[in-house]
Amino acid sequence: MTHHVPEGLPSTIRHYIDGSFVDSVGGETFEVLEPVANTVYARASAGQSADIDLAVAAATRAFTTGLWPGMQPRARARVLNRIADLVEAQDARLAELESFDSGLPITQALGQAQRAAENFRFFADLIVAQADDAYRVPGRQINYVNRKPTGVAGLITPWNTPFMLESWKLAPALASGCTVVLKPAEFTPLSASLWAGIFEEAGLPRGVFNLVNGIGEEAGDALVKHPDVPLISFTGESRTGQLIFANCAPYLKGMSMELGGKSPAIIFADADLDAALDSTLFGVFSLNGERCTAGSRILVERPVYDAFIERFAERARAIVVGDPQDPRTEVGALVHPEHFAKVMSYVELGKSEGRLLAGGGRPEHLPEGNYVAPTVFADVSADARIFQEEIFGPVVAITPFDAEEEALELANGVRYGLAAYVWTSDLTRAHNFAQSIDAGMVWLNSHNVRDLRTPFGGVKASGLGHEGGYRSIDFYTEQQAVHITLGEVHTPRFGAH
Ligand code: NAD
Repeated sequence: MTHHVPEGLPSTIRHYIDGSFVDSVGGETFEVLEPVANTVYARASAGQSADIDLAVAAATRAFTTGLWPGMQPRARARVLNRIADLVEAQDARLAELESFDSGLPITQALGQAQRAAENFRFFADLIVAQADDAYRVPGRQINYVNRKPTGVAGLITPWNTPFMLESWKLAPALASGCTVVLKPAEFTPLSASLWAGIFEEAGLPRGVFNLVNGIGEEAGDALVKHPDVPLISFTGESRTGQLIFANCAPYLKGMSMELGGKSPAIIFADADLDAALDSTLFGVFSLNGERCTAGSRILVERPVYDAFIERFAERARAIVVGDPQDPRTEVGALVHPEHFAKVMSYVELGKSEGRLLAGGGRPEHLPEGNYVAPTVFADVSADARIFQEEIFGPVVAITPFDAEEEALELANGVRYGLAAYVWTSDLTRAHNFAQSIDAGMVWLNSHNVRDLRTPFGGVKASGLGHEGGYRSIDFYTEQQAVHITLGEVHTPRFGAH
């Protein structure tokens, strides 16, 4: 199979601190693999606490003495809009690099690059339109909210859609006037370096954006434990989130946690089954199944169960798996051999926990690379590990149900609660069922189509706090209450007797 290697790939990926690309203070590096041939194509600087110290010092200087936090919202918005323009102008290059580094299909990587631009545009609009509360106590007080950027924000991101997820944190943090230190995922550090050039060209002041590459337990840990970083916004696995939560506790840091998922799609017999079929296939197999909101459990009402799983499996077998850079590819290569091994172990486990209808291992025509055929298990019981645990690959567990209460019990019967998808033509049931699900986000008769104004986040083991729209601005700012006295204040006169 041909393997497209982008031209002009860097052989070293460095930190970007205080406006310059730099190596680690101690010279440490780590290997970066691409997922199709699993060859090392670059070495990245492996940040240690000394590098985090430099990055935090630069961000602190830019926050305390720089222009950015105090700039007019309109002026900051202009910079954010220029960033969006620059991202858009190089979306094809971004997609090419992202697809090469992560194994995401090129067409989907392109969509993610455009989403990244949209995130900047959205927060540019929001910050200009930002209004804050004022409260009047007639004749006595006027009280208002003085919103201030919090300080240096630590941003820690995963590898599944690296550039887009970085934008999801960078855009509101910068819109709010914070300065940042970004620690991108070590599996996919390639695209993050592009931010440096984009931000410089857009006119973001030096030191506002800092990037430290490295391993989670080293660079990530040092950022979490740095006393001058009051905020940590983290997206990643639930167990990493638990650890970071504990590590933030001694410093009482503000935390936003977007964690794992095992989201159900519930299909009632009265649903538009053609639409549900297209949507659930896309919902679990897009982005290689490496998607936090993947509908990785499908619950189907008994009368349509057999027909549905047959059609679903037939379509899954026909999905085009191949070179991520080929525009015909629907499922590419999983990000890294370690993750591939994890997903394959679940595929093997599934063979004893469910009835294998499609996939079940590596596609025959792809003897190398981290390829997994879209895999469908039917008749999976609620206590199966493939029903309970996040696999984060192209693997789906399908389970029948007879009654609405049973469907709800199955939907809610896992530790996660990120997203849910409900398919029915009964309006009353759709709303009642949606409102009873333990999930941060529910879509009725659709897969995940985002409205950037709505809250984004999960409940239970899927997260803590919600970002999205003004909630993101709330996370990156302090809301100070200022009270103005208009009349006489009743003051008990201590010591005046
Ligand atoms: P991960 O938890 O392994 O790593 C995420 C980031 O945390 C990486 O940058 C990593 O280097 C860093 N990290 C690891 N250990 C750390 C530590 N001790 N201290 C500080 N930082 C540390 O997750 P991943 O495998 O990169 O990403 C996949 C996971 O992300 C899945 O569980 C997926 O569901 C989740 N995810 C959630 C959302 C959401 O919005 N809820 C979105 C995308 C991905």
